[in-house]
Amino acid sequence: MFVLEKPLPRPTEDSAPYWEAARREELRLQKCQDCGHVRFPPSLLCPRCLSERAEWVRTSGRGTVYSFIVVHRPQHPAFQPDAPYNVAIVELEEGPRLHTNLVEVENSEIEIGMPVEVVFEKVNDEVTLPKFRPRRTENPGER
Ligand SMILES: [Zn+2]
Repeated sequence: MFVLEKPLPRPTEDSAPYWEAARREELRLQKCQDCGHVRFPPSLLCPRCLSERAEWVRTSGRGTVYSFIVVHRPQHPAFQPDAPYNVAIVELEEGPRLHTNLVEVENSEIEIGMPVEVVFEKVNDEVTLPKFRPRRTENPGER
């Protein structure tokens, strides 16, 4: 059977370390070495103080559901078999908000403010997607 492939993230020079970490099942974000601001998406300059000095720090992997929708009619046909599926914005403990999918939960059970933790879904040798499930452990980032 012909299976339509989903579009995947294409790492850029700025985002490559994010995707490399995801392949190791680590959620790493840039932290400004001058003002301490943790940012996402990846960028050359700190959006707060414009410093170029940043390090990739491992996050706690914990956050809460900031917002979500349930998609019934996907814009892209490759996602049709998954519908209805959720698209969520998770606010990490470190501050940044990520677009993601919530897994291991029924769409009808998702709530704003729900505590969640990161899990990793390997798509292929290049791309592993960070997703989130209802929180079960104290330190998901430490596993
Ligand atoms: Zn800064």
